[in-house]
Amino acid sequence: MKENDSYSSVFADNLEQIQHRIQSACDLADRSHDEVSLLAVSKTKPIEYIEQFYALGQQQFGENYLQEALLKIAEFSEPALQWHYIGAIQSNKTRPIAEHFDWVHTVSSLKVAKRLNSQRPDKASPLNVLIQVNIDREESKSGVLEEDTAALVEAAREMSQLNLRGLMVIPKKQTNLDSTRDSFARTRQLQQSLADQYSLAHFNQLSMGMSEDLELAITEGATIIRIGSALFGPRDS
Ligand SMILES: *Cc1c(COP(=O)(O)O)cnc(C)c1O
Repeated sequence: MKENDSYSSVFADNLEQIQHRIQSACDLADRSHDEVSLLAVSKTKPIEYIEQFYALGQQQFGENYLQEALLKIAEFSEPALQWHYIGAIQSNKTRPIAEHFDWVHTVSSLKVAKRLNSQRPDKASPLNVLIQVNIDREESKSGVLEEDTAALVEAAREMSQLNLRGLMVIPKKQTNLDSTRDSFARTRQLQQSLADQYSLAHFNQLSMGMSEDLELAITEGATIIRIGSALFGPRDS
């Protein structure tokens, strides 16, 4: 228990610092703090850490590795806790995602969208879906190219067990902050034009910004920031 207490005070400080960074960025951008939700990225971290953050009031958790995530979800499920899948999706592994998560940030093909839609249990509310956009056209990165996004939205908006909520992006790693900011801005423009084009009232979410660049992302309209190391500490990889 002592050990838990000591994590808890470090985690409480980390959480407070992140909330403070969110607040400052929102103030500068003339946005309300309520528009930005904090997703705690708990990949590679033990379940006890998640429990600690949950006890501090954090309710949204993001996981990248499916097997690891399923073990955690089986062990720790609370009515208010929402699990977000933010990892790469193999199209033959969609069922557990459809069954166990509340949000998916990384949909980037029609095939995956169709499978998630048909595998989402009828009794569950529609799965919240973000389309991952490869905004900087990187060979190595998953995500839909900008010009292919509309076709995917057009098809997926008809799927009754999916709730299309917006876009997710991981911009190219760049030393020039203006370039990163521009990638965020282009993602927001794309989200807004898709919401208008298809009159999608709930297509209003932008998952962008991590520990290093959350301020830039908030300036450019992020509504979900995905924070790992600044909350849980560095990952040993
Ligand atoms: C790991 C990860 C994060 C968190 O990154 P940090 O730099 O640790 O904040 C956010 N988004 C995705 C998709 C990730 O894989």
